[in-house]
Amino acid sequence: MSEICTISRRVTFAASYRYWLPELSEAENWQRFGIAARAPGSTFTLWVQVRGPVDDHGMVANLSTTIKRTLQREVLQPLHGAYLNDVWPEFANTLPSSEFVAIALWQRLAPCWAAQQIALSHIQLSPDASLVVDYRGQDMEADLTIHTHFSAAHRLSLPSLTLQQNSEIYGKCARPSGHGHNYKLWVTVRGPIHPRTGMVIELNQLRELVDQEIIDHLDHTFLNQDIPAFEAIVPTAENIAIYIRDRLLQPIQELGVQLVKIRLDETDNNSCEVYVDSSMNCADPSPSMSAAIATQPAQPCR
Ligand SMILES: [Zn+2]
Repeated sequence: MSEICTISRRVTFAASYRYWLPELSEAENWQRFGIAARAPGSTFTLWVQVRGPVDDHGMVANLSTTIKRTLQREVLQPLHGAYLNDVWPEFANTLPSSEFVAIALWQRLAPCWAAQQIALSHIQLSPDASLVVDYRGQDMEADLTIHTHFSAAHRLSLPSLTLQQNSEIYGKCARPSGHGHNYKLWVTVRGPIHPRTGMVIELNQLRELVDQEIIDHLDHTFLNQDIPAFEAIVPTAENIAIYIRDRLLQPIQELGVQLVKIRLDETDNNSCEVYVDSSMNCADPSPSMSAAIATQPAQPCR
């Protein structure tokens, strides 16, 4: 019996787009969509992931021929250098948000590969480093991840232990005067995509909430002294991520979406993820899928 594997391929394209709803006033469009009402351009990064049995050639599909050619025909030819609003008919009724572009791509890629017994399992689309959309073919539902950051100081120590004992557990992080980090934070929410805006949530709403609840609250603080919750618990990355998750859970729900995951990077080398519900755990743990390279030829898509 064949092993089942997932393989991924990345492609980038540059495109412009405009978020503008004619039924809204000019002021409302600017307020809701910000700079996206001006028709900005982005270099989008698209990861596609397909899943299936490993064949006699040792591949699920050939990423360098079959998958690459389909992406060139279905993604690069129509989208690279284009104004997205004019590319596909569905964008006349629904804004070409990253969520809706991901769905439009799924609807074009999945049937092509299904005809070759290749199952598309995941699309990840990012217009820039601050935003990632994950779509897994679940009708009009997607995950949206925003990226932000804050700086804070902390000291890792348990009050019941001596300095020596704390140093044995936490190393240099137990030193009495504390030290600081530039924390990188990713917040992932999940929800239905609005049929008119094409969005899970309007970005300004989510960014304002995270700024208000987390960034304004934690930025440039000494966590152990300034944040009451960390008087009783040690502000490790794990505990800070859990604190952020619990603080955002209810307000995000009130915006009409579900909080899925918090990722907190304490340094470039140390990262932590916590989920709201372990059953919502994603198949791929990192914000960007890892690429796999196939070396054997396979049948072209068409
Ligand atoms: Zn530290």
